[in-house]
Amino acid sequence: QFPFGRRLPCDIYWHGVSFHDNNIFSGQVNKFPGMMETVRKITLSRAMRTMQDLFPLEYNFYPRSWIMPEELPLFVAEVRMMKDRNPSWKPTFIVKPDGGCQGDGIYLIKDPSDIRLTGSIQSRPAVVQEYICKPLLVDKLKFDIRLYVLLKSLEPLEIYIAKDGLSRFCTEPYQEPTLKNLHQVFMHLTNYSLNIHSGNFIHSASVNTGSKRTFSSILCRLSSRGADVKKLWSDIISLVIKTIIALTPELKVYYQSDIPAGKPGPTCFQILGFDILLMKNLKPILLEVNANPSMRIEHEQELSPGVFENVPSPVDEEVKVAVIRDTLRLVDPQKKKRKDTHSEVLPRLTPCSVLCRRCQSLEQAPEAGEELPEAALPSLCLKQVFPKYAKQFSYLRLVDRVAALFIRFLGVKGTTKLGPTGFRTFIRNCKLSNSNFSMAAVDILYIDITRRWNSMGIDHKESGMCLQAFVEAFFCLAQKKYKSLPLHDQVASLIELCECRLAALRGKRLVWGCG
Ligand code: ADP
Repeated sequence: QFPFGRRLPCDIYWHGVSFHDNNIFSGQVNKFPGMMETVRKITLSRAMRTMQDLFPLEYNFYPRSWIMPEELPLFVAEVRMMKDRNPSWKPTFIVKPDGGCQGDGIYLIKDPSDIRLTGSIQSRPAVVQEYICKPLLVDKLKFDIRLYVLLKSLEPLEIYIAKDGLSRFCTEPYQEPTLKNLHQVFMHLTNYSLNIHSGNFIHSASVNTGSKRTFSSILCRLSSRGADVKKLWSDIISLVIKTIIALTPELKVYYQSDIPAGKPGPTCFQILGFDILLMKNLKPILLEVNANPSMRIEHEQELSPGVFENVPSPVDEEVKVAVIRDTLRLVDPQKKKRKDTHSEVLPRLTPCSVLCRRCQSLEQAPEAGEELPEAALPSLCLKQVFPKYAKQFSYLRLVDRVAALFIRFLGVKGTTKLGPTGFRTFIRNCKLSNSNFSMAAVDILYIDITRRWNSMGIDHKESGMCLQAFVEAFFCLAQKKYKSLPLHDQVASLIELCECRLAALRGKRLVWGCG
């Protein structure tokens, strides 16, 4: 706890829900500014769509999605077109309210005309998504995986994945969706918070039975059936890295706004909950990313009608304690100091010895001031995947470079939106205006795109062009300039041109400065 009035800074701040305190000038905070907004269903779907436009094959792990209400006509038209092309296609869609969680307000439909337009969709935006009809089943039940991912740093990008996760099971045997079973949430939705209310929910003291199990127990079972578990893990790692690459542009805009470079401020890290569904053919599909995953290691048990008690949940404890312990171990400020000073002595107990009931029984907690050998701790459950595999994925970081241009022209510190003057300066400095594209046309482009994004915007606090609107404008400019190329090459060429012209301009300014 950080008592009100305390003056001494802390080395680690553990915020409950989101980054919310701008009065921290040092240390580390367990949340990134803007993460909650960035992983909301609509924002995530938009970021994924941008990546799918640029890299369709690499990002085919996210179901095709449409944003309601503004993309309703597009949704209707695309579904009609696909049905015309393939009359045997009998799709199902899942409607998920933006900002919802725990399955709240979710329903399945067979046809676009089944969207409940009255009231809710107008007042409560939603994402409509292709429903994955053929999930992998275990014991005839649908399940999903909750994996914990530590984003240890944004710049440079550092990602860790927990070696084990949770598998959360439905409580009714699965059947492919039909008009008759669409409403059966215990069959189609894997949310713990829903299924716990089913009479079939099984709390188990073992990690490999019941309605919540460890992911490793599922992997064991798959492996014994001959499945290629190594390939599955590598696909999951790739899904996680690609998803975070899709999120980083937006996160960097929030970061520079809340913690401007050059001013004293904290660094951030964050534990994210990735919800993943396995298809029958073992392809992992991303369902969503949670900015504030539950770290509870107990569940409620009804002892007698209306009387509840919190009892330990061995599965949650097995997975979550290790995640928290390793997170603290990785961000441990004492470790950093030890590295810096080559000191041999630990001045305090490591957080692990305080937190982990299991590891306390495995090893003696050291006396204060005594060295705790790293080897005495249980092995790390968090495995570094980035920068370890950076080489394979760095070509995907195109939008990151567009975001770097955006941030450069934001001008005023503390803002997340680009004004018309900033946009004009960007065009002028990168020399993108010419006789075919006048500055008047630049202004029209800015106004058109900004107005549209602000009319559907969630954030009305600031006026101006948000990052996603800038990305759209940038794609427009790239298409204009490099008509004959595919979209990815258009965008990559324009980024290179802009970076090159800005570097030349910087060079000139330096020479003038010296002169
Ligand atoms: P919430 O944040 O409300 O839990 P999710 O996106 O996680 O929303 O969806 C809830 C549940 O619905 C998931 O746990 C999963 O079981 C199911 N689900 C979500 N999207 C899909 C999909 N595209 N295909 C199949 N099942 C899905």
